[in-house]
Amino acid sequence: MSIQKDATTNSIALSPPEQQFGMNPVKQRETDNYAQEYIKGFVDKWDELIDWDSRAESEGDFFIQALRKHNVRKVLDVATGTGFHSVRLLEAGFEVVSADGSPEMLVKAFANASHRGHILRTVQADWRWLNRDVHGEYDAIICLGNSFTHMFEERDRRKALAEYYAMLKHDGILILDQRNYDRILDDGFSSKHTYYYCGDNVRAAPEHIDDGLARFRYDFPDESSYYLNMFPLRKNYVRRLMQEVGFQNIETFGDFQETYRDEEPDFYIHVAEKS
Ligand code: SAM
Repeated sequence: MSIQKDATTNSIALSPPEQQFGMNPVKQRETDNYAQEYIKGFVDKWDELIDWDSRAESEGDFFIQALRKHNVRKVLDVATGTGFHSVRLLEAGFEVVSADGSPEMLVKAFANASHRGHILRTVQADWRWLNRDVHGEYDAIICLGNSFTHMFEERDRRKALAEYYAMLKHDGILILDQRNYDRILDDGFSSKHTYYYCGDNVRAAPEHIDDGLARFRYDFPDESSYYLNMFPLRKNYVRRLMQEVGFQNIETFGDFQETYRDEEPDFYIHVAEKS
């Protein structure tokens, strides 16, 4: 938040907060960054970026089917964002608790849900300390929309996965997705711009890629731009971490399909069982 003085009226106005990446943005590689990246201006634009109707059409009932296949009733959405999956799952009849580390996101999710006639049960919680802030056991945990990419340290990823594991019932499942960073790291970026980032007129493209950073820029029609600094997770690395934390029978889908060629999908979806 910055303070600006209007010279004509002599009044003081608070300008909205801006993203803070400092003088050298590609040096910002910390797990805690997400809190300042999802400022109100960006959050308000987020739904423009992920257009709910086209997104629902793209993913069909993939997640609903996966949850039903595992007899899931109670779901913890740990990366609620603006509430897209929490609302879809509520409407499909699941019991949902909606967590996120960003209060801005939860406020927006709550408003989005109430416009659709639902009361979201929201909890502000960072994944690294999930069990401290969220109570109960769940049949499923979902971490969707390329959210896990926000963790820059391996110990944070392990801690988050262990926290998810602990919150699941003995036969629970974790569904976690990620962008296909293998392709970006190995071959450069070329998204079909279909899944997740479905909003019209919104350009999402990487501005910097190396083994430790994928810095994406999001350009909106009103000429505003926002950035996310993310860790480029390789698919097999994520699978290995899940396994090492204790998850079993990890199935990986490419763009909601059971079979994929490694270079094809934009996104991978891992479905892992606790036991
Ligand atoms: N799942 C939503 C979707 O698909 O639209 C939101 C995706 S958004 C890319 C990532 C979300 O993860 C943000 O809402 C952010 O606040 C949350 N997040 C990132 N790191 C987190 C952490 N360490 N603990 C809790 N939430 C986190």
